[in-house]
Amino acid sequence: MGYQRFLTPGFTPFDPLELARETEKIATRKGKEGLERKYTNFYSAPVYRGVATAYVVGCCLRCVYCWTDASRDFPEKFGKFYSPKEVSKRLFKAAQEGITAKGWESFKNLKVKKLRLSGGEPTIGKEHLLSLLEYVEESPYLFILETNGILLGADKDYVKKLSKFSKKIYVRVSLKAATPEGFTKRTGAIGKFYELPFKALSNLLEEGIYTRAAAMTDLRIMTFTERKILKEKLYKIDPFLSVNLEEESINPYPYTIKRLKAAKIKIKRLT
Ligand code: SF4
Repeated sequence: MGYQRFLTPGFTPFDPLELARETEKIATRKGKEGLERKYTNFYSAPVYRGVATAYVVGCCLRCVYCWTDASRDFPEKFGKFYSPKEVSKRLFKAAQEGITAKGWESFKNLKVKKLRLSGGEPTIGKEHLLSLLEYVEESPYLFILETNGILLGADKDYVKKLSKFSKKIYVRVSLKAATPEGFTKRTGAIGKFYELPFKALSNLLEEGIYTRAAAMTDLRIMTFTERKILKEKLYKIDPFLSVNLEEESINPYPYTIKRLKAAKIKIKRLT
């Protein structure tokens, strides 16, 4: 089977850990200053009351509602390789410059105190992320790790290593489903892997890392029953996660619409 792109009807479910390994081969390379990873952009955004963002290439899921650009599906075609040190420098610079992007003029006076990687899955390339966090550790910034939880659920050693930075990081695990069927339908991955993001939450809490759960619970794509199961599963891990669940809904971003159309999924008021 070739490299998994966006989902189309009748797709064959894939192993997300295998896709993470494949993506790592494409989106990282050994460099003089450690493992380099591909990025397409560095900028500050008004979310989290101001966050410097490095737009990373590549992911190990294929969510049908994903908003990120084509670099998710064609990582070989996009981005440039940067060492962890270069990424840290660019993030610090973006934070110092503040919000300058067109369309966000009203946020230009917002002081940026946080950093994150977005656009793909930041945990792909373990050595790269851990090395980047060494630089963040020396900075005045807080790091928000937004992850789908696949690798952190499968690799306890990864979470243990992240715990070294527990004063600096906040991990936001984004859940996609609470049943194997829902997981395959929305992410393209084999159903049995649906537990990994929940396992990631348990692993993170065990290591004393501040973590929160987010989930795409839009009722146009997840049933009320599945949402209930999701909240119950979170409650069993820690009531705080369930009570403070950040619920997301699908927005009509250009690539979201393209992916839903490619998968032939119809959503009210979107496609
Ligand atoms: S996990 Fe996030 S980046 Fe990856 S496909 Fe899903 S929505 Fe997109």
